[in-house]
This record gives sequence, C-alpha cells and structure tokens, in this order.
Amino acid sequence: MGEFEIIRTYFSGQPDGWGVDVGVGDDAAVLAPARDQHLVACTDTLVAGRHFLPDTDPVALGWKALAVNLSDLAAMGAKPRWCLLALSLPDVREDWLHGFSAGLADCARAHGVSLVGGDTTRGPLTITVTALGECVPGHALRRDGAQPGDCIALAGAVGQAAAGLAVLRDTLQVAEPHRQVLIDACQRPAVQLAAGRACAALAHAAIDVSDGLVQDLGHVLAASGVGAVLDVAAIPVTPALRAAGTPDQQRQWVLGGGDDYALLVSLPGEALVPINERLEQAGQPPLTRIGAIRAQPGLVDAATGTTLDAPGFAHF
Ligand code: ADP
Ligand code: MG
Repeated sequence: MGEFEIIRTYFSGQPDGWGVDVGVGDDAAVLAPARDQHLVACTDTLVAGRHFLPDTDPVALGWKALAVNLSDLAAMGAKPRWCLLALSLPDVREDWLHGFSAGLADCARAHGVSLVGGDTTRGPLTITVTALGECVPGHALRRDGAQPGDCIALAGAVGQAAAGLAVLRDTLQVAEPHRQVLIDACQRPAVQLAAGRACAALAHAAIDVSDGLVQDLGHVLAASGVGAVLDVAAIPVTPALRAAGTPDQQRQWVLGGGDDYALLVSLPGEALVPINERLEQAGQPPLTRIGAIRAQPGLVDAATGTTLDAPGFAHF
C-alpha cells in the first residue's frame, strides 16, 4: 500500500465540513473562516516512545493526537474548525492505520472538526496534528493577562492521567471501575472546549494543563508577572484517584501529573457565577475555585505559606 492509497483509504473519507472550500486531495486546503473572526492556530507532535508507549491502542492514539491540539484551542477560548495531520510511519500496518484513523475521525466528529490535509511519509512513528479554530477578535485567552485579585479556577480533573499511565505501565494496581477511568483519562482525554468558550469574554488568562498543574500555572504567573496562592485542598480529587493511592500520592498526581488537559483560568471572582451558569445550561460541570493571583511573585501553598514546587514534565 503506497502513500496515495493510504491517504485515499484512511484520511479522505470525511465529508467536507463547515468552511471547507477545498479539502484533502489538492496541493493545499482552502478554508473560509466566519466573518469577523480571528484564526487561532496550534500544532503538537506525539513521538513514539516519548509521548506514548509504542504498543498504545491506535484508536486511543488517534483520539489523543487531535485532542491535545483541541485542548490548546480550548485554552485560547477558541472554537475548533479544521485540522491537518502529518504522519510519519516506519511501515504500513493496515490494522494500525484503521484504528488510528477511526480514533482521529471519532475525536474530529465529536468536536465538529474537519480533517482538511496533511502529509504522509516513512520514518520513525511520529504524529503531528495542526488545529485551526476561530475566536472573537480580542477575546482570546492569553497566558499573560492574569491580574492580582483574580481567582484561579479549574475546569476538568487533574492527576488521573498520571495515575493511568502508572496503571498502563503495570507499576500501579487499581481495582475496577476506577482502573478504567484512570486509563481513559490517560488515553482518551476530554477537551475543555465548553469551559474555554464560556470563559473567553470574561476571563483574563488561561492555560491547559499538559505538563502538571504547578508547572503550567507557573507559565501563567511568569507571563503575567504575578504570583499566586494555591488552595491545594480545594483541588478536586476524583474517586478514581482516591482509590489509587495514599493522600500523599494523590497530592503528587494532582499537583505534578500532566496529560489531563484540564483548563486553568485566571478571572475576576465575579465572573465565576455567570460562567458557571452558562456551563450548567450547556450541561457541563462548573469551574472550581482553587486559588488567587497576587502581586507578590512565587507560588505558595495556602495551608502552609510555603513555596510550592512540583516537578512536571520537561522534554529537555
Ligand atoms: P503534495 O505532494 O502536494 O505535498 P501530498 O501527496 O503530500 O501532496 O498530499 C496529497 C493530498 O493529501 C494533500 O491534499 C494533502 O493535504 C493530503 N494528505 C496527505 N497526507 C495526509 C494525511 N495523513 N491526512 C490527511 N490528508 C493528507
Ligand atoms: Mg506532501
């Protein structure tokens, strides 16, 4: 099976979606953003052995490759529209391609995204997805907008993916049904698009938690030139995480575990009510208040007043 047959069989099956003038099959895609919207663009690479175990279920991988990009769009308060896929494969394994393309299409369909192009080459297994979305000009949620007096709120759960990875690596034993919850958190992360959109006009800053809560909050603090107090006890610990380890381990997962793709938001306290009302109307869980921004630099634990330092994920 050659390059063109792979593309035809696995990556051109989707009907052209919203705003697609030209999709897969030409030299480039032609896309029509909505009037008066700005384009929001991001890309993320998953490398076998680095970001995922080589024997990872290809369906889960297809979902995750797109989901991590949609999470970046969520963290900007954007609405996702289109994606491109650059795939490097060591060999042609049809069962793998079948699963991977199904997982990716599943995630795309679930979030109203169209696959409009990409590239297919031979090489070490590497998956790069580029996602494109739209936002109202001036409403994008940047990292550098946090202000002293803001509250810090969290959408989604943190810590479960790290525990799920330990389960997959056989270094952690957890009973069902919690075991599957943790594995799903690691392999098929939810994307906080509704929360990001609800926050877009009202919040000051946001980031998605890909490398660990303390580390990613640190990026917002550094970009904004502020500090924060974190109420660690207010961070939700899911039943699955509670079943998986001691309170000490739970704390480590929650503060340092990456790959959950929860959303951290810095916003004026009074914005929390209208945002949560909007989320409730959409059938989505509310944001949880977990801390406050202050002018004094550094990140401290509200309970002890000591500096918080949790190792997150670093590539280099
Ligand atoms: P070119 O030689 O002009 O780069 P390609 O032969 O690489 O074109 O790709 C042919 C068409 O297939 C293009 O529209 C490209 O966007 C699309 N394509 C290639 N690989 C993928 C893929 N993995 N997923 C989706 N579309 C792809
Ligand atoms: Mg090409």
